[in-house]
Order: sequence, then C-alpha cells, then structure tokens
Amino acid sequence: LRWSAERGWHDGRLEPYGAFTLEPATSVFHYGQALFEGMKAYRRPDGAVTLFRPDANAARFNASARRMAMPELPPEIFVKAVELLVAHDRAWVPEGAGRSLYLRPFMIATDPSLGFTHPSRTFLFCVVASPATAYFGGGTPRPLSVWLSTNYTRAVRGGTGYAKTGGNYAGAFAAGLEATAHGCDQVVWLDAEEHRWAEEMGGMNLFFVHARPGGRPRLTTPPLTGTLLPGITRDSLLTLAPKLGYDAVESPVSIDQWREECASGELTEVFACGTAAVIAPVGTVKSENGQWTVSDGEPGPVTLRLRRELLGIQHGSAPDPEGWVHHVR
Ligand code: PMP
Repeated sequence: LRWSAERGWHDGRLEPYGAFTLEPATSVFHYGQALFEGMKAYRRPDGAVTLFRPDANAARFNASARRMAMPELPPEIFVKAVELLVAHDRAWVPEGAGRSLYLRPFMIATDPSLGFTHPSRTFLFCVVASPATAYFGGGTPRPLSVWLSTNYTRAVRGGTGYAKTGGNYAGAFAAGLEATAHGCDQVVWLDAEEHRWAEEMGGMNLFFVHARPGGRPRLTTPPLTGTLLPGITRDSLLTLAPKLGYDAVESPVSIDQWREECASGELTEVFACGTAAVIAPVGTVKSENGQWTVSDGEPGPVTLRLRRELLGIQHGSAPDPEGWVHHVR
C-alpha cells in the first residue's frame, strides 16, 4: 500500500515475499523515518485462525505515525491488510500452545530525496509474515537475567520512546551488547533524568508483583510517561489481573525499591511481557553495583497464572470476555 499527498493511500496488493528496489537517496535510509508493529496470528483447536486486539495495534501505529510526521492509516485498512495476508498464508499458521505466525506491519518514507527540510511526501506500508517459534522456548518459561543499563538511555521526555520507530531499536543494540557481555539476556531501561526508575525492557514491558500474604497480590507496572512503549500485552494484563483477584496499578518503581524489596521478601516476582515473549519471568538482576535474585530466581505463581490465562485467551482455550480475539475470515 502506498501513500502520496495527491492520492492518499492507494495501490494495495498482495504479492509473494521478495526484494523490492529503492533508490540510494531514499529518505528512510538517511533519516530513519520508519515505524512498525508486531503481532501474531494464532490457530485455535477448531482450526480457526485469529488475531489478538489488532485494533490496538492499528491505534498504536497511528500514534507512532503522528509522532514521526507520517500519514495515519485508517484502522480498518490496517486490520484488513493484516487479515488479507493471514487469510492468504492461513496454512502457515501453526497449531499448538505458544506457536503462531508472526506479523510485521511497517511503514517507511520513500521520497528519493536527501533533503531534510520537510518530511517525506511518499510512504510505503507493508506487512510481512514469518513463522515464529516461542520466543524464550515453549513450556515453562526460563527466567531471564537482566542488565540495568546506566550507560545508555532509551528515551527522553518529548522524544520518540512511545513510538514504535526503528531508531529506538537501533539505539538499543549497544546496550544489548553490554548486557550480553555481562552474561544477561535483556536490558532494563531506566529513566533518562535520574537513572533511578525502571521503565521497560528491549521489547517488553515490566511488572512487579508483591504477594502480600493475607491480602490480594498487587501488580505494579511503570506508568506511560511518554518514554516507554504502551504495550498491548501490558494493557491486557492491567484488565485481566483484577478479574483473577489481583490488584493492578500503574506506578513508578525505583531500582532501589526493586533491590531492597527483593531482599526483604516483599517483592516476590518480576516479569516482562510483550507479544513475542508473552510473559517471561525475571530471575536475576545485574548492574554496575552488584546483582540480586528475585525470590529464588524461579518463575512465581502469579507470573505463571497470568501467562496461562493470557495464552488461553490468545489460543482459544479460555473464554474471551473482553472481545479481544478477532477471527480471520
Ligand atoms: N516495549 C518495547 C520497546 C517493545 O518493542 C514491545 C514490543 N512491541 C513492548 C514493550 C511490548 O509491546 P506489546 O505488548 O504490544 O508487544
């Protein structure tokens, strides 16, 4: 699907995966005016193929587009484009818990111009489908070790942190390499001003669980201050948690609190969540100032229950009271 100022969105078509040509001066190569979404298609036990909250992806895509001075795509066209591709590739949607067809809608600036005086005036929107295996392995998820990044910052207030734009991810590679060098699986991003507040991970949002013996377990996730990606999994868990008997709040969590409350035993579980990983427990936390484990470092009961419930809704083995499941015809 292409966009130009004169014609708006036009020329939508389905074609086999393959190379396309762009001139070396194409705007996206130089200024990174690009954005994307990540979604999955699931196969239910009865064979039906579904998407999970595609309207939420469409809304986030348009919020990203506004930030990046790119044209919005009417949500019904976004969903239709994804649906047409999935319907065509139906045979590629695998069955089984945690298995899916990964979908990558994206938009790039295509003006063949090196000028930086104005945003591109032509754009290309595509959706690519790719068979996915479970991100961190199937079955019981392996606990992640995470690196608290104080040398690098992902996003600042007024920046592009809440937009799903390529540059946020390009800037994250160096921190990812630092995490790997410290033997960690993932980076935890902290706020830019104080390097004190936990924000999110490379491709996942964070939740902190206080078991509160004798009371309802409480889930805390950092608030959407504009510097983190508003995850659709995060949003779904905020809705789901109270129905499972948990309190769920959006509130800042400092790394001091994270360390101290793990030591005192009040903070019992930490997990990350996103479309690719679903829900992944955090076991070990490392930083320049030392390391600690969350409880015994193993996945906790709240993490595992939420994971089971969410996978159940997504894969069609649990009821869907919120109407999140979208059938592909
Ligand atoms: N944060 C970042 C930086 C991400 O890239 C993602 C993945 N889109 C998420 C959080 C989780 O978002 P979602 O639940 O919508 O996949």
